[in-house]
Amino acid sequence: MLELRPNCECCDRDLPPQSELARICTFECTFCADCAESRFHGVCPNCEGDLVARPIRPDSKLHRFPASLRRINKAHTACAKPPPPAAPGSGRDGWSVTL
Ligand SMILES: [Zn+2]
Ligand SMILES: [Zn+2]
Repeated sequence: MLELRPNCECCDRDLPPQSELARICTFECTFCADCAESRFHGVCPNCEGDLVARPIRPDSKLHRFPASLRRINKAHTACAKPPPPAAPGSGRDGWSVTL
């Protein structure tokens, strides 16, 4: 049975069982759609498997088979960095930029 983890492993956003933004891999590593797409390009950073939309468990079943409450949060290499810039070659030197 799916654990239905409550949050994105990367940005810690809440992903309730009804969320259509939840993405999981075959090991149930769980991410939000934003992280899955913009940071990982649909590939799980832990196991390199596909990230796909998590099936929604009907409310009627959640009573008997509740979602997991265990929040998992990991520091992935891809999480530590901001999403890659949209336009490469914009002339900015990453080393000299201070924000
Ligand atoms: Zn996320
Ligand atoms: Zn995985």
